Amino acid sequence: MKINILTIFPEMFEPLNMSMLGRARQNGILDINIVDIREYTEDKHKRVDDTPYGGGAGMVMQVQPILDACRKSKFSGEILYMSPRGEILSGEIAMELSKKSEITILCGHYEGVDERAIEILNAREISIGDYVLTGGEIPAMVLIDTVARFVDGVLASEESALDESIYSGLLEYPQYSKPREYEGKEVPSVLLSGNHQEIDLWRWEQSLKLTKEKRPDLFKKYLDMNLKLSKKEKEILEKYRM
Ligand code: SAM
Repeated sequence: MKINILTIFPEMFEPLNMSMLGRARQNGILDINIVDIREYTEDKHKRVDDTPYGGGAGMVMQVQPILDACRKSKFSGEILYMSPRGEILSGEIAMELSKKSEITILCGHYEGVDERAIEILNAREISIGDYVLTGGEIPAMVLIDTVARFVDGVLASEESALDESIYSGLLEYPQYSKPREYEGKEVPSVLLSGNHQEIDLWRWEQSLKLTKEKRPDLFKKYLDMNLKLSKKEKEILEKYRM
């Protein structure tokens, strides 16, 4: 998958060279192409922003460098603009984007970008949540990270992007690793039993309990799902239904 990023702070994308995304880039599974909008400005002082028409605080990123950066780089595919005005990023949107062969992400800064850039590029606005950040670079990295998990070959072969909190319909059960005891806290004995059926059942019950406590909205949706359950699972679920 090819992901193009339009930004005035290319150096902020160093984290994309690390961990699983860094490996996916090295293996050629992700082709991430970072373009510095400033290199395309026609301003002799390399400026890419100016004051807003109509007055008001802050600066606005100008349309010319953004459009030239995009057009001269000959990008194809959908263009996204990271913006607090956008659709809220979700697992469904991430999955949908992961099926595309190429996307381009425009990162705003200051007060945002000249509206004409969004209109001319027909950019889809995507928000990472109902709060405001100083720039679109961190939101772009959030989007890339979650989209990449659905791209074949990014996760290790035994991992499934869907076998996680939220996507499975429930929050994930608690996980433990060595040592067996730490500051008086023991790992639940069922996890040491070697009985995989019992372990699966225990984990599922923990997921039900946590989801009911922390995300009653998700729990309600889960109960409405057409679940195929064993007799034992039905008995467990009944305890949490009320
Ligand atoms: N004046 C804009 C408004 O009120 O909608 C906010 C501009 S914000 C300070 C600067 C840039 O950060 C935006 O252009 C956008 O690219 C990015 N940004 C801020 N919050 C965001 C969010 N929740 N999701 C995605 N991008 C965001």
